[in-house]
Amino acid sequence: MTDERTIWLAALLHDIGKFWENIPPADVPSELRAAQKYQHEAYGAWFVRQYLADWTGDLQAVEQIIVKHHQPSLSDEVLVQIADWLASYERVQAGQEEAGGRGKRETLLRSILSRVQGADAKLYHPLQALKIDRETLFPLPEDRAPLPDYSRVWNQFLQELQKVPSPHPRSLLALLFKYFWAAPSDRSYEDIPDISLYHHLVATAAIAVCLRRQQLSEGELATLGDALRTLWSRQPQTPAQQAILNRPVALLVKGDVSGTQDFLYLLTSRGAARGLRGRSFYLQLLTEVVSEWMLRRLQLPLTNRLYAGGGHFYLLVPYCERERVDELRTQIAQKLWQAHRGDLSLNIGAVPVAPVDFVSSQMGGEGFAKKWAEVTQSVESRKRQRWADLGAEQMAQHLFTPYDEGTTAEEMCQVCHGEWKAGEDTTDEGVRKCRRCASFEQLGMELRHCEYLLRFDLPDQTLSHPRPTWQEVLRSFGVEVHPLSRRQDGGLQLPSVPGNAQGVLLERVGDTDFLNEEALDLAGQLHPPVSFDFRLLGEVTPVDAQGNVVDYDYLANASQGVLWLGVLRMDVDSLGQLFRHGLGNDATLSRMTTLSGSMRLFFEAYVPSLCREVNERGREKVYLLYAGGDDLFVVGSWSVLPVLAQRIRDQFREYAGGDHVTISAGIAIEHEKYPLYRLADDAKHALDDRAKGLGKRKINGREVQKNGICFLGEPLGWEQFSEVDYWKNELLAMLQAANGEKKVSRALLTRLMEISQLYRANRRVQQARLRRGEIDEGQFRSLVQHDRWRWRMVYHLSRFAQRYSGQEQALQELKEALSQKGLIQNIHIAARWAELLTREGG
Ligand SMILES: [Zn+2]
Repeated sequence: MTDERTIWLAALLHDIGKFWENIPPADVPSELRAAQKYQHEAYGAWFVRQYLADWTGDLQAVEQIIVKHHQPSLSDEVLVQIADWLASYERVQAGQEEAGGRGKRETLLRSILSRVQGADAKLYHPLQALKIDRETLFPLPEDRAPLPDYSRVWNQFLQELQKVPSPHPRSLLALLFKYFWAAPSDRSYEDIPDISLYHHLVATAAIAVCLRRQQLSEGELATLGDALRTLWSRQPQTPAQQAILNRPVALLVKGDVSGTQDFLYLLTSRGAARGLRGRSFYLQLLTEVVSEWMLRRLQLPLTNRLYAGGGHFYLLVPYCERERVDELRTQIAQKLWQAHRGDLSLNIGAVPVAPVDFVSSQMGGEGFAKKWAEVTQSVESRKRQRWADLGAEQMAQHLFTPYDEGTTAEEMCQVCHGEWKAGEDTTDEGVRKCRRCASFEQLGMELRHCEYLLRFDLPDQTLSHPRPTWQEVLRSFGVEVHPLSRRQDGGLQLPSVPGNAQGVLLERVGDTDFLNEEALDLAGQLHPPVSFDFRLLGEVTPVDAQGNVVDYDYLANASQGVLWLGVLRMDVDSLGQLFRHGLGNDATLSRMTTLSGSMRLFFEAYVPSLCREVNERGREKVYLLYAGGDDLFVVGSWSVLPVLAQRIRDQFREYAGGDHVTISAGIAIEHEKYPLYRLADDAKHALDDRAKGLGKRKINGREVQKNGICFLGEPLGWEQFSEVDYWKNELLAMLQAANGEKKVSRALLTRLMEISQLYRANRRVQQARLRRGEIDEGQFRSLVQHDRWRWRMVYHLSRFAQRYSGQEQALQELKEALSQKGLIQNIHIAARWAELLTREGG
């Protein structure tokens, strides 16, 4: 039997030859050709021989497994075939009206968001290397998508692969992602090509490693293979086949950071804004670092991490490691307790996964979506017993042993209200900052111009200081991270390599061109050998004219009209439902990871550029604290937030291809003295309770719910919001009279708000009568429409029209919209909005 690493590499590359099918290499040796069933197996093996020759390990075995994965004889070959099946053997047959693959040459990857239930439009990703721009990220309708040029992308891939100075799985994975994220994994005529080759390869590798470590015997593998065949052909199964289909081979592990709300927003002092981005980025790093720490402890490759982002991660772990997972969970809890004293914790849930769980229900299995939902439940139940992970003894020790805390104001950090000690901690412009808070500020500052992230792998360091810096916490999980920014002279300052460094990772930040000359040159100055990767993250941290990260008052002062601060939060509606049911009967591991990957590209790669557009127009106004997974958090000048929210929503709608997957927004605005944690809470309430509370309604014949924005305390569907936005602009035009006419007095806004109040008060009364059965529906409608508000409105608008000649037409249109088009329901929001935009000062 070959070792796990060999199996891993073979599984990871088993289908890579598919890319070569259009442009077959001429020199494939005949012994490889002789062994294949199709063509891509021999090409894949030939790729390994030609391009991975300097990799250590049993490359001959890798070639052999790849070449035989469609007609295996040895047990390793059978194992990779089974992993391939379990990852993606759901192969949805294209229905008659569905566009399946259109032959090997022309197939494009169908956007997974345009594949989930309810989608109308069929969108396709042009075949190209990943870049962080709209042209690359957004899928197109079939008739607008260019024909794929497989040979160009393949040659680019080979060229970059040859630049990698020393072989490393991480660099290879980064290249596979960059070049095969938009390549369909399957291009046969009858299937819908909605799984990317990258996600298929990674899922196959993860499953293969689990199967290998479970040490299934040759006989068991054969039985499992037969069981899967009978399952798909709906044949009766033998008891042995049933047993092996239902025997767990893996654990789906989910980790979720909790306490993040308080950790981020419960900061009060001046300068808190500066530390905020540092804290938020630290949470992201922590999620990544802890998940990788678990993988290292379990000796698993990075491909067994299915996802990391948005404060949580998913791992696929061999089932035989379940006790080890429990041990690691305790160790993580202890390290985090030491680091954060309970302010932050990581809850880790796990559920067993049997072969049948990988198989889509379409094909007679359970469907992987079920496991995705189950493990989230497992995390939730863990949260309820938060400190149990510490272990009984440790818990008693920690929870009942008092530790030093500042007692007087002079011994307190003015940012986090933790302990502050003269000599150990510092003062910055008269503000006492503990070393931890100071380190977050420093990180936030360094990120602003960060172009690379350098990471050293080390043995775990013990935490000794009670207020560890972020670097010290990460070191306790065996990594040391350095953001690299450009010096005045244009060069990059390299930190010295720690003597005990076991590995080095150089990540390009916010750019996929990660094997550029500079990176290779930097790597040349470092040892041990460097691996390469890139991260999508784009920084949007506003700075003042001097280049300093600005504070909240600066953002408030950059507003139009009243000088207030705002928080915008957005997330995808009913995400759980989408993952649980969106893929219907077709949910498999690689489809789930393709789906989460697709969300991630929008939020992590694209949202920052939308925020940057706002900042590029004059004085910087928004601070993107966080965008990832399926949500985002922005602090900024209140007046730009509704515009930004609308823009993000419109773009998301286009990205998803319609209203079958929707997004909602919550905005809270207040005076800048109002504490940020309350503003953050208010925005959360606006999003979760108000915008998401919008009921079912029909738009263009489609039933939708949620799908809206809560602004100024009023939830509105996006369709209504654009109407409110339009009338806000009309009101502003009347107030500002750009056309040289006499400006309408702001009293118009007051009148409109009064009229709206009359309308709403009467509506409530009539609603109560309707409920009591005193009036019927018809009477209700009439009573609501024909009431005092109507003649008051006509009276006032006529008087304004008399007083402001030249504005009669605009006022007449307003009158009609109010009396006939239902604008009366929302006019108070437009009026209030216009009022805030034209009010002077704070
Ligand atoms: Zn502090």
